[in-house]
Amino acid sequence: MALVNENFLKLPGNYLFSEVAKKVTAFKTTHPNADIIRLGIGDVTRPLPAASLEAMHRAVDELGHSDTFHGYGPEQGYDFLIDTIIKNDYAPRGISLSPSEVFVSDGAKSDTGNIGDILGHDNTVGVTDPVYPVYIDSNVMAGRSGDLLANGKWSNITYLPCTAENHFIPALPAQRVDIIYLCYPNNPTGTTLTRAELKKWVDYALANDALILYDAAYEAYITEDEVPHSIYEIKGAKKVAIEFRSFSKTAGFTGVRCGYTVVPKEVTACTEEGGRIALNQLWNRRQCTKFNGTSYITQRGAEAIYSPEGKQQVRETIAYYMENARLMREGLQAAGFEVFGGVNAPYIWLKTPQGCSSWQFFDQLLYDVHIVGTPGVGFGPSGEGYFRLTAFGQREDTLRAMERIAKWQG
Ligand code: PLP
Repeated sequence: MALVNENFLKLPGNYLFSEVAKKVTAFKTTHPNADIIRLGIGDVTRPLPAASLEAMHRAVDELGHSDTFHGYGPEQGYDFLIDTIIKNDYAPRGISLSPSEVFVSDGAKSDTGNIGDILGHDNTVGVTDPVYPVYIDSNVMAGRSGDLLANGKWSNITYLPCTAENHFIPALPAQRVDIIYLCYPNNPTGTTLTRAELKKWVDYALANDALILYDAAYEAYITEDEVPHSIYEIKGAKKVAIEFRSFSKTAGFTGVRCGYTVVPKEVTACTEEGGRIALNQLWNRRQCTKFNGTSYITQRGAEAIYSPEGKQQVRETIAYYMENARLMREGLQAAGFEVFGGVNAPYIWLKTPQGCSSWQFFDQLLYDVHIVGTPGVGFGPSGEGYFRLTAFGQREDTLRAMERIAKWQG
């Protein structure tokens, strides 16, 4: 008889997005002619950079000839992409990495979810709240989370609230944690940490022998100088941090699938006997066993975003979304809302009006102005009273949405 991993049974259904979909479907049934604007999902709408498209076409053609055919590639990724990543994303910031410290993958969701494979089940885990749900759910699956409490928190997870009251800067945990997930620029709040604030976390990890799992999926959206692009800009971070990056939001690769994870050789964790093991070695072993590499075509497409034309095309796409973010921030502020994020990230996090819950605001926005967003409480208990809108929409839709909101509140 096969037994299931009962930890999976503890997971609530994907309540957030299925509940959103259910509510939108119900609304459409009663309002069949309503013109709904969707600013809820985290998917991009701009097409791939032309440089990537051309590179992928060339790669497809290579696969059609026996002398340029590529079969299984290295599980860690092709050197041509790894070298390009180091040369462009790290070396200019004074960070030196060896190629064996960079692991190309099919995206940051898989890697942030799978990294727990190489970490013991007894580790204590800290997360900022609200949070990208993958960090928590993957720990529930591994049995690290304890039980779901009535307040929406897991009993063995340490929640670090990020709200307007603390300017979305999480306090260091009151009780020691072994693993800390940090995501900056942040999904869902769109906020960031300065170098000085991130240093506090690196120092905490160094002093407490903790591991930081740093998700920098939105790094390309940073506009302010004091915001670090990589955790390795902070002294000592190479001893305590693993960094996750993604081409999804940088270059429209949400459907193509490519990202990478940096596991410096210096990052170690303990064995039960008190020895220390390099996590690089374990992650390499894990990937070689369970992952067979990102496709050659995809990696050529990713490499091309670092070409001069590719960089220019990526800049244009990001500028497009960030102009949406600016229009949304200004439009919402003019309509009287308190808004956060949207300066170094494509997410706008707005405070719902006094006494209005995240879900009540969702209903109001849908029924009054036919706009779909995401209730903040869906990202964690500290998201209650907030609401997420994304800047990934088409310009026209973004402008129309702001016009409707202005009239609604006017
Ligand atoms: N990390 C964060 C914080 C995200 O918001 C997302 C996607 O929404 C991901 C990772 C997933 O990225 P990828 O498409 O590379 O799997």
